[in-house]
Amino acid sequence: MNLHDLTLAQTARALADKQFSSREVTQHYLDRIARLDKTYNSFITVTAEQALAEADAADARRAAGNAAFLTGVPFAHKDIFCTQGVRTSCGSRMLDNFISPYDATVVAKYREQGLVMLGKTNMDEFAMGSSNETSWYGPVKNPWDTGCVPGGSSGGSAACVAARLAPGATATDTGGSIRQPAALCGITGLKPTYGRVSRWGMIAFASSLDQAGPMARTAEDVALLLGAMAGFDPKDSTSLDRDVPDYAAALGNELAGLKIGVPKEYFGAGLNPQTAERVQAALREYEKLGARLVEISLPHSHLAVPAYYVIAPAECSANLSRFDGVRYGYRCENPQDLMDLYCRSRAEGFGEEVKRRILVGAYALSAGFYDAYYRKAQQVRRLIQQDFVEAFKEVDVIMGPTSPSPAFAFGAKGSDPVAMYLEDIYTIATNLAGLPGMSLPCGLVDNKPVGLQVIGNYFDEARMLNVAHRYQQVTDWHAQAPAGVMA
Ligand code: GLN
Repeated sequence: MNLHDLTLAQTARALADKQFSSREVTQHYLDRIARLDKTYNSFITVTAEQALAEADAADARRAAGNAAFLTGVPFAHKDIFCTQGVRTSCGSRMLDNFISPYDATVVAKYREQGLVMLGKTNMDEFAMGSSNETSWYGPVKNPWDTGCVPGGSSGGSAACVAARLAPGATATDTGGSIRQPAALCGITGLKPTYGRVSRWGMIAFASSLDQAGPMARTAEDVALLLGAMAGFDPKDSTSLDRDVPDYAAALGNELAGLKIGVPKEYFGAGLNPQTAERVQAALREYEKLGARLVEISLPHSHLAVPAYYVIAPAECSANLSRFDGVRYGYRCENPQDLMDLYCRSRAEGFGEEVKRRILVGAYALSAGFYDAYYRKAQQVRRLIQQDFVEAFKEVDVIMGPTSPSPAFAFGAKGSDPVAMYLEDIYTIATNLAGLPGMSLPCGLVDNKPVGLQVIGNYFDEARMLNVAHRYQQVTDWHAQAPAGVMA
């Protein structure tokens, strides 16, 4: 058996049993990254030396008898999280030279618990995209089919887990960036309730929508990684002061009597028929586990993408105004004067999609258009949230597809931003409502993975993980690996 066959939870247990050391498993993953990631491009930065030093510290901590459950377990951070002393690029030329002077709260928490960071993963520039094609560092290849995208924006995190280059990774989700790449790469990922995980030190895209969460192969792994990152943070005024449950402890509950809402709007035109079939098969599996399916309606679903593409760009235009070429990040050569420095640094430092969003956002917020676009979008956002409030009066969780189709070829949607935006048609509404959502593998179409989306009520992550885990006890889609990666 290879060390990379083990799930994250199995790795943690084996470390506790002293079957191998953190240094051994860390070296194993570093060797795999060195050998295989030229193909996938899932890492922007590999921190090999630092990882081995962290592994040795973890081994010493275990020997001293004060290890946490995840001490010594290797993983990767999305390159959107600030990591002290390590480049934090956010997938952008703008931050290619940025060495963060501090750790994000998520990073600090993982460090305290002694997890070992293998490196920083590739992503769409400033987390804007659904295919990883907007990264300054080049696209990530989907391990299931290297001619296809891994999804985005957390495509590097998803691909490195799918390719067994790390047993787990952190990611962020503003409109689907954890769930859609998890679906396209055949892994499990969870976007928590807004406010569950601190955003401090996570480079902001759209502050009212951004949320960090984990990706791994199984719901059990995701439960462990979520528990290690969740919790109130006085440094983030939008983080909520609620106890963090023991997510792993809740995995054993039976599903008898569970009411699953199936929104009719999530199975309409635009959904690949074979994807729909796999999702329906998963729903039938849940019926066998004792759950009851209830057809529901989320009548404002069709307004989620348009509302998001006003709100997210508006917030991004404000958040990205800090990148001015003066304080840190990219600065143009030989500026003629201050205005030239601002203009050329931003024109050269940002890519096309980021500029498109800044322009749309600045327009939507401008005097004269604010009421017509931004205020209207916020009103629609409330209607979308109310749809879910009504639905959760009737059901415990909501299920449907994560994305409309499996992974698509590079360039397939490149020339049409709106086609790309529709990738998140089933995921965006949960961000607008602040609800938790997850994706788990539920089948293959043409040997490419399909994701089942589970949407929960506020702070109901424990139930969602339980629901996902029970399915993974009776199916093995989550255990399938892309051809060749297990070797
Ligand atoms: N694909 C969506 C976008 O481009 C969502 C990205 C995200 O969740 N960060 O905005």
